[in-house]
Amino acid sequence: MTKSAFLEERHLKLAERVRAFGDKRLRAALRDEADPAGRTRELVLQLAEENLLVVAVAPPWGAMDLRSVVVVRETLAYFSSLADTAFAMQGLGSYALGLVGTDVQKKRWLPAVARGEVLAAFAVTEPEAGSDLAAVRTRARPDGLVWRLRGVKTLISNAGIAGLYTVLARSADGDDHHGLSLFLVDAEAPGLVVKPLEAIAPHPLGEVRFEATPAVLLGAEGKGFGLALATLDAFRPSVGAAACGFAARAFDEALRWAQARRQFGHRLAEFQAVQMALAEMYVDLEAARLLVHRAAWLRDNGAERITREGAMAKLAATEMAQRVVDRSVQIHGGQGVMRGATVERLYREVRSLRIYEGTSEIQKLVIARDILKDTR
Ligand SMILES: Cc1cc2nc3c(=O)[nH]c(=O)nc-3n(C[C@H](O)[C@H](O)[C@H](O)COP(=O)(O)OP(=O)(O)OC[C@H]3O[C@@H](n4cnc5c(N)ncnc54)[C@H](O)[C@@H]3O)c2cc1C
Repeated sequence: MTKSAFLEERHLKLAERVRAFGDKRLRAALRDEADPAGRTRELVLQLAEENLLVVAVAPPWGAMDLRSVVVVRETLAYFSSLADTAFAMQGLGSYALGLVGTDVQKKRWLPAVARGEVLAAFAVTEPEAGSDLAAVRTRARPDGLVWRLRGVKTLISNAGIAGLYTVLARSADGDDHHGLSLFLVDAEAPGLVVKPLEAIAPHPLGEVRFEATPAVLLGAEGKGFGLALATLDAFRPSVGAAACGFAARAFDEALRWAQARRQFGHRLAEFQAVQMALAEMYVDLEAARLLVHRAAWLRDNGAERITREGAMAKLAATEMAQRVVDRSVQIHGGQGVMRGATVERLYREVRSLRIYEGTSEIQKLVIARDILKDTR
């Protein structure tokens, strides 16, 4: 982890701790491919043992320190995309609960999430509502003391292994964001059907169908859209951090390869064209990392919203990581696309980051709207 004015000594120490954990426990990344769901369960327990999940889980266990979250995500992603997802989902799936849950709701779920006994999921996307979240159709209707959900969520991380789902659903008639509320769904509840989905790279992903599933309202009715956006706001810089982790690994792999591989009687690293590529990758990574750290620093220092800065961090870092990983594959030549090569794995893993938690295009819209708002 590079030193910067945005990080304190404790963040660098945390990074060292996670790196030691990664060196010891996360070297078997190939196993991730065979059974992403089973491996995620294992990783969550390992992260809990290391007392790292508390970093991702919101109050009452202390205000979430976003710089700690980004430091952990970057370092985990350096070793294993699944470990990063396992860590991040415990935070993403419980963040709104920490913000607006009742004491009873918090006590029931948060300690178990922080201890890794319950996996968390954040279910907003639907087949017809991706970038356009206000188009969510899953219906919520009151039924005695509970609500009942009917509808389908898709592309949901931790689907099938989560014990707790935070779900965005329509609790009032209409088709805009005002009628949306957040709900907590216990995975043990009747009427919850999961269909696993397979992605380009290992990820515990699935479709979740609610068939009159009992659910509990989280926060005030009609405030779900704002809460979902606040959750995404808080976590977007950390997606950028994961991207930096992938890029840092790709860079290190490129550096190693360029120093080892010989062609035309020279090491690749002696060719100026390769040196240029390495320098550009390095600067690209460092610049994006600074945007990530700045966004997190702003939030930790009391900024109420970091909408623009978080979107900039996510956009810059995920686009950067795609470029850096691609260049690393190029430096590896044919070996870079062989199954089992680290950079081949990174090439597949990095792709989703420009899509989830808001595509790159949506980040640009968010940034532009925020800039335009200021000029009105
Ligand atoms: C690995 C993975 C994990 C995920 N995990 C979760 C999860 O845990 N929970 C969850 O709820 N969701 C999750 N998602 C879903 C993810 O958030 C959505 O895929 C994402 O928001 C985009 O929605 P979409 O796929 O429907 O694409 P669409 O919204 O259909 O977009 C398709 C294309 O059109 C572009 N586009 C759309 N609208 C505009 C516009 N106004 N202007 C310009 N371009 C536009 C997009 O940028 C994109 O390029 C996950 C996705 C992936 C890939």
